Amino acid sequence: MRRQLFTIAVTLTILTGATFASETIYKITPDSVEKHIAVLAHDSLEGRQVGEIGEWKAAQYIKGIFQSIELEPKGDDSTYLQSCNFIKRIDLGAKNRLTVNGVELEIEEEFLPMLQSASTSFDFSEVVWVDYGIKMEEDDGAYDDYENKDIEGKAVLVKRFAPSSEDNPHIDFEKYESLTNKINTAIKLGAAGIFFITPENENDTLMAVGPARINPKDIPIVLLRRKGLQKLGLDLNKPLITSATGETELVKTRDTAYNVVGYIPGNTNSTIIIGAHYDHLGWGSSASHYTGKEPMIHNGADDNGSGTAAILELARHYASRSEQLNYSVLFIAFSGEEEGLIGSKHFASHMTIDSSKVRMMINLDMIGRMREQDNGLVVFGVGTCAAFKNYFDSLSYDDIKLTVIEGGIGPSDHTAFYNRKIPVMFFFTGAHEDYHKPSDDIDKIDFNGIVQVSHVVTDAIDYFDSFTGELAFQRTKDEKSSRRRGRYSVTFGIMPDYVYEGVGLRADGVIPDRPGDKAGMLDGDVVVKMGKYEIGDIYDYMDALGKFRKGDTCAVLVDRNGEQVNLQVIFE
Ligand SMILES: [Zn+2]
Ligand SMILES: [Zn+2]
Repeated sequence: MRRQLFTIAVTLTILTGATFASETIYKITPDSVEKHIAVLAHDSLEGRQVGEIGEWKAAQYIKGIFQSIELEPKGDDSTYLQSCNFIKRIDLGAKNRLTVNGVELEIEEEFLPMLQSASTSFDFSEVVWVDYGIKMEEDDGAYDDYENKDIEGKAVLVKRFAPSSEDNPHIDFEKYESLTNKINTAIKLGAAGIFFITPENENDTLMAVGPARINPKDIPIVLLRRKGLQKLGLDLNKPLITSATGETELVKTRDTAYNVVGYIPGNTNSTIIIGAHYDHLGWGSSASHYTGKEPMIHNGADDNGSGTAAILELARHYASRSEQLNYSVLFIAFSGEEEGLIGSKHFASHMTIDSSKVRMMINLDMIGRMREQDNGLVVFGVGTCAAFKNYFDSLSYDDIKLTVIEGGIGPSDHTAFYNRKIPVMFFFTGAHEDYHKPSDDIDKIDFNGIVQVSHVVTDAIDYFDSFTGELAFQRTKDEKSSRRRGRYSVTFGIMPDYVYEGVGLRADGVIPDRPGDKAGMLDGDVVVKMGKYEIGDIYDYMDALGKFRKGDTCAVLVDRNGEQVNLQVIFE
């Protein structure tokens, strides 16, 4: 089955077979893989969303397996669970109230504080109409909704979206119509409050509450809904507002995510980490690709019931032959991956073992569709360590089409370890049309394929377990994560930290030979200003990025451990 060109490995395989009776070694089977996925992807776990009961049930199941095979608990305080605190969402507080032109409006139905809003009270005797609230850069056109308007210290009333292109055929509003851009423009010009309205032909809804990556501004920002304007008897397209008093209150709801961690001590104190995230999207979330109207459970059989089942089986396998191991092996089921690598980032920065002894990290995420991919298996990260590359270059399997990719950065948990300079391998059987949809269910899983992937993993672990050479970390040029999103014509080459709670945009990683790296940016730098744009959070960052063109030079101010550092970035 396996054709390994290293004679040393072949010798070891023979030795291993001769020394240990094979019946005592636990063999991974399609049936046992299926049993785990049947539990994890069952409707009763409701899609295992972080912070929800289904996540807790899944964690208990994984913990039960670790316990039954007597792994050492390596979570918090010698338990199997490691807890990570995170901001789950932003909710409306109890204090929200608004009186416009002397008439009190109803929260939600008639007005809605926006996620970007400060929590504050206000009393505006002047609310200045500024149309679409767009002020263009000179290069982009002469359009300016703020021309001849004095808004300093006053509130502004802004229409969402942009003027029709029929009326303005030569002006491209795309870069200017985002809420982020309008909010930042108004603040920069001195506004003390912002009220938005929705043009009549557009949908008058807005996410009331939601994910928590927005950093609030210093001023109240409120959507005046159509029902509220109707109650006030105002023109829906250009309401005349003479006074607005009230209070906004947005509350961050924190919650706890749980990693499940078990450990097999080896004969040396070098450790290999094997991980897979077990959380998924629950009933859908902003990451869902499901477009139907009825809410549906996202069971995530492939994402990532498959990888979770595999690490449970790998734990059983290694527990049955622990005396053979030189390395210690740490098994970890991560939570909160879907919300921005919450669990893996927490573990990577709060390891419950000596982090200097960690030699490599293996991540399994979506390995349940091999047959469908013509038996294809992709291994990412082989460029993160020279020995990985040598190993995989000399390896081939008769029954698996192996593709190796050097890059160690990708949208899954191994990235958190890569960013800590630990060599990583990430196993993946490919994307498919059920990705992040309710149809990612157990009926489409290739259980035998998961067993095959597990064998590739054990082959690699067994090889490196007796590898005597160096396992030095190498940065990789990133081939995969640089996908450009539609509206950005430039790249910066940094990996945003999606769960950073401070002001600015923190770079989890800097990609070699890309603009950020060339300008001298370091992992962990926090971008607080780009050119003239203040960067308060990831939304400001994305909005600012949209304003630059290839070849532009931009002064970037970063906060590096409390020190302000000026960099010159040339966008590509
Ligand atoms: Zn995943
Ligand atoms: Zn996912």
